[in-house]
Amino acid sequence: MLQCPACVKKDMIVLELEGIEIDHCLACGGVWLDAGELELLIGPSDKVSSLRGAFNDLQDTGGEPSRKCPICAKFMAKTSTTGATTLMLDRCPQGHGIWFDDGELQTFLACGCGADERVVAIVKDVFSARISTKKGV
Ligand SMILES: [Zn+2]
Ligand SMILES: [Zn+2]
Repeated sequence: MLQCPACVKKDMIVLELEGIEIDHCLACGGVWLDAGELELLIGPSDKVSSLRGAFNDLQDTGGEPSRKCPICAKFMAKTSTTGATTLMLDRCPQGHGIWFDDGELQTFLACGCGADERVVAIVKDVFSARISTKKGV
């Protein structure tokens, strides 16, 4: 069980999407994807290499707190996506994976990163279920 890099000391739950395991924090809504999982989610490797090119590491983090990789506990680098939507994500410098804050994964998948529409729909489904439960309280 990995601990949430944003909440610290909260265990994340494991969701399974199409055989891909995704770590999800119920407290903050964030999602941790291991390096290989992101690639499985996006699909064919040509898409993955264009995806890699879509990330730019940032020097100026705009005041967002640094978070630690849940696997190696090293501080993660802030990285941003280029293109229509700019997101600020945390990336392990050792390549363990990427952290998405609440809603960022859906935005990321929806903004033309090359993910399968089917995958996008599944991800939306899973997380909208969570959001509607939260609103219903
Ligand atoms: Zn959390
Ligand atoms: Zn790491």
